[in-house]
Amino acid sequence: MDYKDYLDRFVSDVQALTDVVTEKTKQKASEAKLHIDIKKAETDRDKAYRALGRIMYQIEMGTLRRDENIVKAACSQVTEQEEAIARMKKDLEARKKEEETGAPTVNAQESSDGSDDKDEDTEDADPDPGPEEKADGAEKKDGIPVLKFCPSCGTGNDPDAKFCKKCGREI
Ligand SMILES: [Zn+2]
Repeated sequence: MDYKDYLDRFVSDVQALTDVVTEKTKQKASEAKLHIDIKKAETDRDKAYRALGRIMYQIEMGTLRRDENIVKAACSQVTEQEEAIARMKKDLEARKKEEETGAPTVNAQESSDGSDDKDEDTEDADPDPGPEEKADGAEKKDGIPVLKFCPSCGTGNDPDAKFCKKCGREI
């Protein structure tokens, strides 16, 4: 084969190779991002654990009022992070599987057909829904107060607190 053929062949081979590499890199990039997000969520979870531990310690030592809601709020922060971690790890597993088989995994969460038309019987609606029976996610707004954790000492403060009650830092 003459030089020109060789060159054309070389160029198209390199092009094909580059396409594959680019695809792989894209996939790796989002995997790497997932790894970072998981690490971050794990750090946040550990922070929430520490805050919970501090709350329990302060309650035990009598420096914090024994308040069921504060403990619940701190626990729900931990749970929230644990759930996020589990979700992302599952996502990462799916990606790895996808990479092995080469077949894209169907995302079950995106298959909603919008079939929930529940606003027919507004007459029967309970005018006073109890704060206890709120669905996931809504509890923080209505039932349990969202704690403002102090960024320097981790103390859980009242949601409307301006300053940390422990160390006085502005929050
Ligand atoms: Zn503080």
